[in-house]
Amino acid sequence: MTFQDLNLNTPLYNAIEDLGFENPTPIQAEAFNIIASGKDVVGIAQTGTGKTFAYMLPILRHLKYSRQDNPRVLILVPTRELVVQVVDEIEKLSRYINNRVLGVYGGTNINTQKQAVAQGQDIIVATPGRLYDLAVSRVLQLKSIQKLVIDEVDVMLDLGFRHQLMNIFDILPERRQNIMFSATMTKDVDDLITHFFINPAKVQIAVSGTPLENIKQQRYDVPNFYTKVNLLEYLLQDENEFSKVLIFVAYKKMADRLFDTLEALFHGQTCVIHSNKTQNYRLRSIEQFRDGEHRILVATDVMARGLDIDDITHVINFDTPEYPENYMHRIGRTGRAEKEGRTLLFSTEKEQEAREKIEDLMQLQIESVVIPEAVEISTTLIEEERPQIKERNNPIKRKKEDLPGPAFHEKKDKNKKVNLGGSYRREAAKKYKKPKTRGDKNSNRRNKKRR
Ligand code: AMP
Repeated sequence: MTFQDLNLNTPLYNAIEDLGFENPTPIQAEAFNIIASGKDVVGIAQTGTGKTFAYMLPILRHLKYSRQDNPRVLILVPTRELVVQVVDEIEKLSRYINNRVLGVYGGTNINTQKQAVAQGQDIIVATPGRLYDLAVSRVLQLKSIQKLVIDEVDVMLDLGFRHQLMNIFDILPERRQNIMFSATMTKDVDDLITHFFINPAKVQIAVSGTPLENIKQQRYDVPNFYTKVNLLEYLLQDENEFSKVLIFVAYKKMADRLFDTLEALFHGQTCVIHSNKTQNYRLRSIEQFRDGEHRILVATDVMARGLDIDDITHVINFDTPEYPENYMHRIGRTGRAEKEGRTLLFSTEKEQEAREKIEDLMQLQIESVVIPEAVEISTTLIEEERPQIKERNNPIKRKKEDLPGPAFHEKKDKNKKVNLGGSYRREAAKKYKKPKTRGDKNSNRRNKKRR
């Protein structure tokens, strides 16, 4: 497909020509008409696939010239760096278009940004927190937003922005087009789609397009976490063979746990990245791995995307990803530039179903390898693996009727009060028990009568 096949206009053609792009990338070709149609769209594409232009081309194609001050397109991205990058890309495409683009993000002076907003903008590119602050201050009016793009939504959710996203959804006009891009599918992303998107069209570049021929894939059936660790320890002892190893796990907690375990076994050879680590820590880890200072990198799916590191000898899937696309992204980190890469997949009994889904997607059976004899099969289970024990006929266990009732605690004084009526009189009587002046005699007499 060429750019001529897309229904672009002259200013966009000219901008693309200036950029020297020959053809649209697959995601651009596939997304153009669907996004242009105005439907809600979910795009699955990684950085580097041309995804920014995939949503910007159709948006710019249909954004009419306007002098109104309130922005009509809102693009949310997880980091400042991405704000800058996306603004830059939009400006490149807008070379021959008269539109106003502004990037806003936290950590900088909000007043300068307020002034820029007040000048009137067509497109706002923002991180969620700062966007919300600007909207709440009422300088930024969102009532004219027609198109909402959430880019790198997986990273956004992984960084804990779900709550901010919800707040923003609340103040956006209901009639709008939602466009969302994510590199990986995660449970959080899936939940967000089901809750907030109306029957979205899914755009995805064929994952099977990953050059599988360069990658030798094998798998092990492993009963539990500690046996996986033992197998890993056994394999990683061969430092020549396993000289640059990227290990994937699904969760941050698991990444930390595995990192600690490996660090104890292979001291000074391991590093870790996930979204709870600071940016500096993550950058340092990646550098150490890239330079070969450390040969093992433990990473979560979301953080490892976009990692472009040469000569990775092995990608090890310490767990089996629930979404088969994530497996494709993981193994795509190796076998680059015509070199043969190797991948290993560890699956417990519970993970077999996910493994089958992966094989279905690839239409290929992964070669199964038996755990070497030297690897100890552990029976120790981590918290998540332990079964919920249901007790039966436990004679020591108390019967239901013997169990203590609901938790009891002393009521606060103000809650203990019973309404006796006439509170003013009672308070006064308490206060003025004994008459101190003649004037009080009357009241004492009244009290006597009552008694
Ligand atoms: P992205 O995936 O949006 O981060 O884009 C990755 C890079 O590809 C950016 O530097 C774009 O400028 C570039 N790019 C986008 N579309 C094309 C295209 N059709 N042909 C060549 N390069 C492109």
